[in-house]
Amino acid sequence: MKSKYDMLIVGGGPAGAIAAKTAAEAGCTVCLIEKRPAIGTPIRCAEGVGREILEEFTRPDPRWISSSIERAKIIVPNGTAIRLDQDDPGNAVGYILDRKVFDRELVWQAAEAGADVFVKTRATAPIMEGGAVRGAKVISIGTPIDIRADVVLAADGTEAQFARRAGLDTTVPLREIMSCTQYLLTDIDIDPVSTDFYLGNDIAPEGYLWVFPKGERTANVGIGISGRKSRDGSRAKDYLDRFIAENFPGGKTIEAIVGGVPVCQPLPCTVADGLMVIGDAARVVDPLTGGGIGNAMFTGRLAAKVAAEAISAGDCSKKTLMPYDVGWRASRMGASLTRNYKIKEFFITLDDRKLNVLADSIASIGLAEFSVSALIKELIKRNPKMLFELGALKSSLS
Ligand SMILES: Cc1cc2nc3c(=O)[nH]c(=O)nc-3n(C[C@H](O)[C@H](O)[C@H](O)COP(=O)(O)OP(=O)(O)OC[C@H]3O[C@@H](n4cnc5c(N)ncnc54)[C@H](O)[C@@H]3O)c2cc1C
Repeated sequence: MKSKYDMLIVGGGPAGAIAAKTAAEAGCTVCLIEKRPAIGTPIRCAEGVGREILEEFTRPDPRWISSSIERAKIIVPNGTAIRLDQDDPGNAVGYILDRKVFDRELVWQAAEAGADVFVKTRATAPIMEGGAVRGAKVISIGTPIDIRADVVLAADGTEAQFARRAGLDTTVPLREIMSCTQYLLTDIDIDPVSTDFYLGNDIAPEGYLWVFPKGERTANVGIGISGRKSRDGSRAKDYLDRFIAENFPGGKTIEAIVGGVPVCQPLPCTVADGLMVIGDAARVVDPLTGGGIGNAMFTGRLAAKVAAEAISAGDCSKKTLMPYDVGWRASRMGASLTRNYKIKEFFITLDDRKLNVLADSIASIGLAEFSVSALIKELIKRNPKMLFELGALKSSLS
């Protein structure tokens, strides 16, 4: 490990890995540090990703694809299922990954491009000089070291401690943290090419429950509920256990995880002098779906490109790094975060009766286009009175 790099990346998830690869390919000296002893484990993810976004970053490889998905079903409390198929299977629907292998693959690609990678290496605090970030204090396998860098990319996920310690407010309101529990369940009867989403206040208050297939008889069966709904006897695990007892009584749990997903608005600003915040740490998880893999990779790549230019210009001030913040907000991803936040805020106000009415209104029509916009457009068309609040969004739903 050198004591000075062009770029230091804190966190070896998809955001950090893509950033490290992009920066190394741009000719920067790059150091990626990961606090865990191994990249990719333990996973904290249901592992679903759209095909289009995935293929923008890497070629799908059977070594880390558990399932190819052809449709999705949204199931409401009365049992009605909205089925979303598409003519071109997998386009927007995508894959269920094996993230243990996938995350490693991304980091391998970064290392191959020239990035230095260190595991069991935790950033404990930013090195601050004159209000600017100039590197990080780290503990690498028990040894304290200072790593200096022109730019630090905070890719440390939901906890977002690094940016907080550098002075950015990364707090997420309790109601906007999805409290999640997931089991990898095997020996269960599932539709192996469908991702199933269960909605309802008795099933997953202000959240949803998912069944994402990882083979013919195995699936990630998980749940996210609003942090404010979580209390003794009604935690995410309690809801999930009830669902599994009813629906998959013979299932065997071979892995269990818990985690939090921020479904709030993105940070008001994702850059500071010498610092850029990417992925979950920047709060760019899709607030409606809780999906963050694609957005993590997108922000990681954009940040690394802007940082590489700033480094070669010899100016890593907030002003010079700002095109990253402006760029992702102006992108399709930025627009969809804004739109989906509004949709999420609306949908969590619906009681089960309204959810049933909405689902019944479109359950019988086949929705060939698998997208949030297509679904919402159709719902507004068929329920103009109930969804008039969302009508204002209609023009942006393209
Ligand atoms: C239960 C659950 C289900 C989910 N399901 C999906 C899904 O189906 N599809 C989807 O797209 N998204 C899903 N997500 C969200 C997805 O996992 C994240 O959006 C994605 O992993 C974000 O990538 P990232 O690189 O920003 O952060 P992470 O993948 O969280 O990576 C951050 C890394 O930083 C490391 N780190 C933290 N602090 C430090 C430090 N101080 N020093 C060094 N390293 C540090 C961590 O150990 C971690 O490896 C889910 C999340 C949860 C919790």
